[in-house]
Formats: sequence, structure tokens, C-alpha cells
Amino acid sequence: MEFIYQARPARVIFGAGSLRHLEDEVQALGAQRALVLCTPEQRAMAESVAERLGARAVGVYDRAAMHVPIEVARDAREFARSRGADCAVAVGGGSTVGLGKAIALESSLPILAIPTTYAGSEMTPIYGVTENGLKRTGTDPRVLPRTVLYDPQLSLSLPVDLSVASGINAMAHAAEGLYAVDANPVMSLMAEEGIAALARGLPGLRRDAADPRARGDALYGAWLCGTVLGNVGMALHHKLCHTLGGSFNLPHAQTHAIILPHALAYNTAAAPEAMRRIARALGAEDAARGMHAFARAVGAPLSLADIGMRVADLDRAADLAVANPYRNPRPVERGALRALLQDAFDGAPPREY
Ligand code: NAD
Repeated sequence: MEFIYQARPARVIFGAGSLRHLEDEVQALGAQRALVLCTPEQRAMAESVAERLGARAVGVYDRAAMHVPIEVARDAREFARSRGADCAVAVGGGSTVGLGKAIALESSLPILAIPTTYAGSEMTPIYGVTENGLKRTGTDPRVLPRTVLYDPQLSLSLPVDLSVASGINAMAHAAEGLYAVDANPVMSLMAEEGIAALARGLPGLRRDAADPRARGDALYGAWLCGTVLGNVGMALHHKLCHTLGGSFNLPHAQTHAIILPHALAYNTAAAPEAMRRIARALGAEDAARGMHAFARAVGAPLSLADIGMRVADLDRAADLAVANPYRNPRPVERGALRALLQDAFDGAPPREY
């Protein structure tokens, strides 16, 4: 066995009702002037967070949007500067945390993240900003949130359809972490436990969106899977999803949920140990087929056609996905990838590609 493991510094506070620790945590960062970030849809939630902070909040900025448009990043940076903010409190999903990162990238403002989806951005030093339709991504330790406050109660309002898709998005980080070229035993433990926790949580919240145990399991799993994303490299699945999201404007979580079983099928023979662990975490015989059956059972989307992909774009998607591929256990072949995309488009079960 040979590996490198580098722990990333982040303080995590987890538990139903843990939002009550917010003021202490802002204080622990040495901050006096917190700017609260959110999307327009989550303005009310962000305002109640700002209220909790009282005089320590200097405003709510509510223009966070998917993939962090550069205009929004610039505007938010200026807003933060004009208010004299000394900390950003990001309340929301990957889009809002991403906006916090875009601010921190230029100002080194510490971020306190309060994730309300399962996307996992809060545990990674990866940022992305979109300019002229192109998303530029990079890694910088300054954008890693210093403190992450996970309160499952804040995820109760996440619509169930989005919750299950977002949960499978999280599972994808863990699944690819298990066969990453730079995998390490600590991340693999977290990955397997993360998939298992989401496999417990998602069916429960499909049955009852407000089930506290299910919401707790799902968010706990999301933390573990996000940590894996922040620590080891991603492969074919993430490349495909970045291509589909970036070039065809497909929704993030849903795209991940649809592609994952097929990406696992593509890598099945090349990563047997990872597949064994994924299958075990799902309680299934086979990782790819088990993931597809799980997605179906929790009512996740199964077909790219259903989320707005056009059949005429599949060829271009395959071309883009083979260009600059991420490191993958199995070489990326265009013909096989095109077949995979067709199945994902049709909503067909995964098979050998
Ligand atoms: P999102 O942040 O775009 O949220 C989707 C929608 O759900 C938004 O309208 C949001 O306001 C709403 N929402 C979120 N939580 C809610 C709640 N509890 N109740 C009600 N509504 C709620 O979606 P996402 O999937 O979390 O994030 C996707 C974005 O994050 C993409 O741009 C992706 O590239 C990025 N991302 C980045 C990283 C990273 O490491 N840099 C990791 C994961 C995702």
C-alpha cells in the first residue's frame, strides 16, 4: 500500500438545530461584519440567519446563481468591500458556496458555509467562475470554508426531487473517490460510509421529506462525500457531468444522478475493488446496476431527454468529453462513451460499454 494523505483544515459543526452556534462560530473566526450570501429563492432563510447575527451582520447579498457568472462575482466582491465585510456566511447549495469562494479568491475573506443541499462544495478548495459561457475552475486553499455548519433542519425545505438528485450527486463524489488515482484509505472509508448514509437517508426522505433521521443521514453522507471530493481527483463521471452542465446547460444535480450508473458501468471491469465497496454500501450485487435501481427506487431522474438534452447534441457531447479527459481507471474511448450517452439519454439501464 502506498498513498499520500493531506488533511484539510475545516471545522465542522453538525446536528439538528446547530444553527444556534452561528454567532459563536462567527466570533471564533474573529469576524465582526458578516455578509450573508444566498440565491434569490433563499432570501428569507438568509435574512433569518442575518437576524440571528444581529449587529454582526452587515447585509444579505442574494444574487448567487449556478456556475458563478463573473458579473455576479464582481458585483458581490464590490458589495462585500463597500460594506466592510470581514467574513462571508454562505447559506445554500453549491451555487451560493461558489459565490463565497469567488469573493474569497480575491479578498481572502473567511467563509462560514451553511450547506442546504448535498452538493459538497463546502468541503473543497475548488472554485469556478463563468465568463463568456466558459467556466474557469481552479484550486486554491483560500476558498476552502473555514467553518461548516451542517443543520439538517435547513434542508427540510429542499424539494424532494432535488434532494434525491443532489444526494446521488454526493454519492458520485464518493464513488469516483474510491477509484481515484490518488485514492487513500481514509477517503475510501469516508466514501463507503458516505454512500451508505445516503442510501439510508434518501429513501426515507422520499417517503417523508421532513423525516429528521432521513435528513440527518443524507446531510451526514453529503459531508463525507464532499470531503472525498475535496481530497482526491475525480474521473470520467465528473468530466461527463461538467461537459453536459457547462456546454448544454443541464441542471447540475439531476445530470449527476442520471450519468452515475452509466459511468460506473463504464469503469466496472477496471476498478473491481471500488465497485465491490460501492455495491456493499448500496446493499446491492453490482455497483452500476445497483445504483440504477437505487436511483429509480428513490424517484431520481433517469433520462437526459427528460432534463432538456437534445438528441442532436449527443455527438458533440461525446467529442467534448474525450477532449482533455480526467484521469480515469479505464481509457476513455469515444465509441463506448457515445453508447453510454445514448443509454443515459434514453433512460436505459447501464450495461457493458
Ligand atoms: P444550487 O446551489 O444551484 O441550488 C439549487 C436551487 O435550490 C437554488 O435555487 C437554491 O436556492 C435552492 N435551494 C438550495 N437549498 C435549498 C433549501 N434547503 N430549501 C429550498 N431551496 C433550496 O444547487 P447545487 O446542486 O447545490 O449546486 C450546484 C452548483 O455547485 C454548480 O454550479 C456546481 O458546479 C457547483 N459545485 C461546486 C463544487 C465545488 O467543489 N466547487 C462542488 C459541488 C457543486
